[in-house]
Amino acid sequence: MKCGNQDKNVKNCTCTYISCNKRGMCCECVAYHRQNGEIPGCFFPPEAERSYDRSIKNFINAWSRR
Ligand code: SF4
Repeated sequence: MKCGNQDKNVKNCTCTYISCNKRGMCCECVAYHRQNGEIPGCFFPPEAERSYDRSIKNFINAWSRR
């Protein structure tokens, strides 16, 4: 599927996993992580995002520490 906003989305994407084939395709990114019981990287604070652990547990822990 081609995303018409991919170039624009990539510019605003805070996910550091740059080899991911879903970067800039937010609908696919959200669907992928939701299906795995996870949260997309852009919702995490930077230090937690860089761990690539997209679990809900890591999300709650990361924001609880702030
Ligand atoms: S959050 Fe996950 S699916 Fe989305 S761009 Fe980053 S690694 Fe890819």
